[in-house]
Amino acid sequence: MTEKLYDADSHLCEFTARVTECKECDGGYAVILDRTAFFPEGGGQESDRGVIDGVSVLDVQIKDGEIYHYTNAPLTVGETAECKLDWERRFRNMQNHSGEHIVSGIVHRLYGCNNVGFHLGAEMTVDFDRELTRKQLDEAERLANRAVYENVRIKAYYPPEDELEKLDYRSKLELTENVRLVEIEGYDLCACCAPHVKRTGEIGIIKILDFFRNKGGVRVFIKCGSDALADYGVKYDNVLKISNLLSVKQQDTAAAADRLADENRFLKQELSTLKKRLINAKSESFSPEREITAVFEDGLDIKELQLFADALYKKCGGIRGVFSGCENGYSFAICGGEQLDGFFAGFKKKFAVKGGGRNGMVQGTVAATESEIENYFK
Ligand SMILES: [Zn+2]
Repeated sequence: MTEKLYDADSHLCEFTARVTECKECDGGYAVILDRTAFFPEGGGQESDRGVIDGVSVLDVQIKDGEIYHYTNAPLTVGETAECKLDWERRFRNMQNHSGEHIVSGIVHRLYGCNNVGFHLGAEMTVDFDRELTRKQLDEAERLANRAVYENVRIKAYYPPEDELEKLDYRSKLELTENVRLVEIEGYDLCACCAPHVKRTGEIGIIKILDFFRNKGGVRVFIKCGSDALADYGVKYDNVLKISNLLSVKQQDTAAAADRLADENRFLKQELSTLKKRLINAKSESFSPEREITAVFEDGLDIKELQLFADALYKKCGGIRGVFSGCENGYSFAICGGEQLDGFFAGFKKKFAVKGGGRNGMVQGTVAATESEIENYFK
């Protein structure tokens, strides 16, 4: 059985180990070492990456107690290999995972919630079995960050069975053998197989982001340490841009965006009223020379096209099409009496048309030029 170096020292990132097995498998090799600091995927946390003798470790999995390092090249059995973790990835995982333990411990103590689902990949999510409000999560966040400022010790250990029975800890399972406890002094005690930072100060900021109702509880998104800093950077850039665009202070951007949305709604209404007036005026002054006509008017949406075509038809009868330029041709609405169906069937045959309709009106889009449409209507 491989010795789990990550169990004893979470900060060990360079080590030597003997290759005890190397077998070809799907698109690569499965390597077993006599000892390893590579954490295999488990407990919701993704596996470590790095190199063994310069060969990339693409994944690490534990199966039936055996730890397999999946590599893209073979290694020589019996040789001692130089191993190195992708420390940035590991440390980022530890910051998030330790931060999650603190939040889960606090939420458990304050609100009696149990952590019933944990995932740490590109994002970190935690599922709690009871609903929580933003206010409750804010309080948990405040206390979690206090735990970071206090820089308390985090230790992992295997207590003896008889002691374990008496202990009150989170994730207490049926398992009574080889239970590894992770203790965050004064904040949490939880069964966990993953490596953690040594003191809470290493975690950095703990930020609870979005949450939503999920299976009778809530799913919460949390970012810690370098992830939280990167997230802050992205959000800061956004707020800075918005504040410059709207010429308001950064803390006033939401209120300014709100005003802008109101203004936008008002302007849309105004524009719609003006377009209707324009359509009415144009329809009123319309005096057709022919029974069938096509009118071209840019900037009309499908409803306005329908309104326009309908107004023209009501005034003059015949077949009245209105066209407005769109991405690959024209949007249109055509109104007519009994002869419309035959006319539209021919129109669809002649051009690439998407759309249809009934009760004397058809609408859609057509890939054709103005003159092609004009000619057909003639
Ligand atoms: Zn854990």
